[in-house]
Amino acid sequence: SSDRSVTKNSSDVCVSFEFFPPKTVKAETRLWTAIETLEPLGPDFVSVTYGAGGSTRERTHRTVERMAKETRMNPAAHLTCVEATRDEIDIIAKDYWAAGVRHIVALRGDPTSGIGDKYQPHPDGYAYASDLVEGLKRIADFEVTVSAYPELHPESGDWRSEIDNLKRKIDAGATRAITQFFFSPDIFWRFQDRVLDAGIDIPIVPGLMLQPNVKGLQKMSELCGVAVPDWYVELFEGLDNEPTTRDMLTATLISELAAELHDRGVRHYHLYTLNRAEIANAVSRVLGLHRRQSIGDQSVGPSLRA
Ligand code: FAD
Repeated sequence: SSDRSVTKNSSDVCVSFEFFPPKTVKAETRLWTAIETLEPLGPDFVSVTYGAGGSTRERTHRTVERMAKETRMNPAAHLTCVEATRDEIDIIAKDYWAAGVRHIVALRGDPTSGIGDKYQPHPDGYAYASDLVEGLKRIADFEVTVSAYPELHPESGDWRSEIDNLKRKIDAGATRAITQFFFSPDIFWRFQDRVLDAGIDIPIVPGLMLQPNVKGLQKMSELCGVAVPDWYVELFEGLDNEPTTRDMLTATLISELAAELHDRGVRHYHLYTLNRAEIANAVSRVLGLHRRQSIGDQSVGPSLRA
């Protein structure tokens, strides 16, 4: 029987997949091949990240709209406050609404000069994610997802400001938070306790990073204030020329993390796919998602449109 997957019964597990907008024609082809592979898993939604510059902005838009038109998946567009006036952002949001996109992942964003440089709100812009959420809700009744940081956002001095900020975003209308990635379930449990202690009751969805390039992962984690445990890094030692093994290891380790989270009640996972299907597909199958399509339409998840 298929009951050896982590979840035994997949009916209450869901995943969402995050992609980034492709820069080249070749990357675009790769992304759409990945989407074709992942669509039958019936993700709850799929999200597309956003960069502040003009061209990346349009790429996000194009990718989200194509998902809305050509797939049965529910797309969510990331949007940030960086280097734009409120009017400019409002126009983007209205365009999404007109195109049938109903879900925005609302973020502050980082300075385009690089993560780590000091963030300066645009003088006529939305200053922080909470302001953006408020603005979006004024435009239309978007479903709004925001970020959360189980290891503190690097600019939050303490847990109090971190949790207060999350609360502001919820008060403004956010109904779900996706976490920055992390590698130890304890980090997630401790964060969830803080969130519950603060009386926050929206779903906190763990974000799982599927990056098999551990050097790239370390660099990125350092900028984001995420700890990559030594044992995790050590497992990748000597594998620089073994891409298949690195993929297998990543799928195994992230499946283990997902299983531990499942043991204590997590049912929604957000996978940072890096636009590749293989690892996301493997992890989703361990979670039992492959069975949804064969059980019948109603188990395919709320996202799939009739
Ligand atoms: P906020 O929630 O606004 O918080 C940022 C910092 O400001 C926090 O330290 C907070 O405590 C502090 N703060 C908030 N309000 C105030 C205030 N009034 N005064 C002083 N300090 C305040 N980046 C992109 O560019 N594009 C993407 O598509 C993207 N997608 C992401 C998806 C997820 C799930 C996550 C977790 C991150 C993503 N990011 C993305 C990265 C994100 O933009 C950065 O982490 C950024 O530094 C913070 O954005 P935020 O929305 O979390 O900010």
